[in-house]
Amino acid sequence: MAEDKLTDYRRKRKGSRTDEPRGTSRGAAQGQSKPEGADEGGSRPRFVVQRHDATNLHFDVRLEIDGVLVSWAVPKGPSVNPADKRLAHRTEDHPLDYIDYEGRIEEGYGAGTVIVWDTGTYENLTEDDGEPVSAADALAGGHLKVELHGTKLTGAFAFTHTKMGGDEANWMLVKVDDHGADRRRKPTSTQNSSVLTDRTNADLEE
Ligand code: MN
Repeated sequence: MAEDKLTDYRRKRKGSRTDEPRGTSRGAAQGQSKPEGADEGGSRPRFVVQRHDATNLHFDVRLEIDGVLVSWAVPKGPSVNPADKRLAHRTEDHPLDYIDYEGRIEEGYGAGTVIVWDTGTYENLTEDDGEPVSAADALAGGHLKVELHGTKLTGAFAFTHTKMGGDEANWMLVKVDDHGADRRRKPTSTQNSSVLTDRTNADLEE
């Protein structure tokens, strides 16, 4: 169940000074999943990309799947150029109420500032031989294709479990060449403020 998936999340934050969601409350339980695509407009699963200015700046890409936010840390952030392959390091599932978290993590795990760089809903487009595959099965199978309906990111993105360098956590994130692709736009460089509050990471450092 969703609660059990968050064991790592809670363990890593034990004793840390942080105002991050605790991952114990109703957020996770209430989000317990509706079937994907069951209700057009209204209950599509959500995604978030958080810009996390920690020891190493990275972007955390999170997809709502079965009551938690399945998460990857993407050092360079998502690219909208289909020619770019971005390393995506799978990290611990996060509670659903992390989806709009912005703040400053004082010390301990992930110390630094977090803003909501992009957010919206997504559709799972994964298929196998023309048959739809659930997001959970796609994740387990190592191939997940989603269409993002965000502000900065639109169109389909493909996640592939590469295990590059023998690291089980290594995936690759690539933009699918579609209406949301753009070979010149570089949103991770040029659009650095929060889509929720217009704040930058630097604004949260005080
Ligand atoms: Mn992070």
